[in-house]
Amino acid sequence: MHEKEILGIESEILRFGVDYFQDKGFTQLLPVMLSPITDPLGPDPNSSVIKTGEIEYCGQKLQLMQSMILHKQIAISKGLDKIFILSPNIRLEHPKRMKSGKHLFEFTQLDFEIKDAKMTDVFELMEEYYSKLFIHLKKTKSKELKILKRVLPEMKLPFPKLHTRELIEKFGEYWELKASKYYKIPFWAISHKREFYDKSDPKKSGEYFNYDLVYPEGFGEALSGGERDHEYKILMKKIKDHKLDQKKYEYYIKLAKAGKLKPTAGAGFGIERLTRFVCGLKHVGEVQLFKRIPGKRVEV
Ligand code: ASP
Ligand code: MG
Repeated sequence: MHEKEILGIESEILRFGVDYFQDKGFTQLLPVMLSPITDPLGPDPNSSVIKTGEIEYCGQKLQLMQSMILHKQIAISKGLDKIFILSPNIRLEHPKRMKSGKHLFEFTQLDFEIKDAKMTDVFELMEEYYSKLFIHLKKTKSKELKILKRVLPEMKLPFPKLHTRELIEKFGEYWELKASKYYKIPFWAISHKREFYDKSDPKKSGEYFNYDLVYPEGFGEALSGGERDHEYKILMKKIKDHKLDQKKYEYYIKLAKAGKLKPTAGAGFGIERLTRFVCGLKHVGEVQLFKRIPGKRVEV
């Protein structure tokens, strides 16, 4: 039901996103889908991947892309300043995520990275993005939104910024859904233990310069990102602590050792989740013509 309206809205979201990032001086890269390395995704508490997809080709093991984070850092090491990718990702989530409403095992994120940026730069960029996008959609897609009986919430700026510690105090350990239902506008959740590449506070153990954006009205996680660690010593320690296979990361580690990785910040947000939020849908799978819902058999 309503595929035409939903996909029409998603298509407009894609057009708007490409224009927005291009107009801000970002270079659009084409996606990479197979590589010896990809985002390891752990120990992000939001990830439940049961395995990383892998194929063997010409004697080499290549992984299906879980996110292009490492490629984003490498791209910046090659002299690019601001990049984005419409990046298809495969994340083989646990079947228990079938009914979460927000998980797909194949989805596309708009993934971006900025040289020399700080968290606050990402906050500003994305807050402007959401507020302009919503104004644009109210103008261009009012007919479709009416058919979907969706009244878009007001994007009042700035979005609230909360430390995850505060969220846990207020809403408990599993704060995401409760907080998402409580807030009327998106909010930032700052600092949580995630992957090795997110920047740890060198002065305070257990603190991170990273963030999620959470949609209101119970729609949950929208975006994840952070400032990045780029120094060889720090990265090596974290790669060891996270028990990652150093051999796989050889190329990346070599760049770090040569001082080629740069301080950057970035994030990625799922296109299907954004479309779900805009359309006010119960499950993100409703956005896909070819459904990729964890634990559900794929028909086509
Ligand atoms: N794209 C995210 C980032 O930039 C990582 C992710 O996909 O979760 O940190
Ligand atoms: Mg995340």
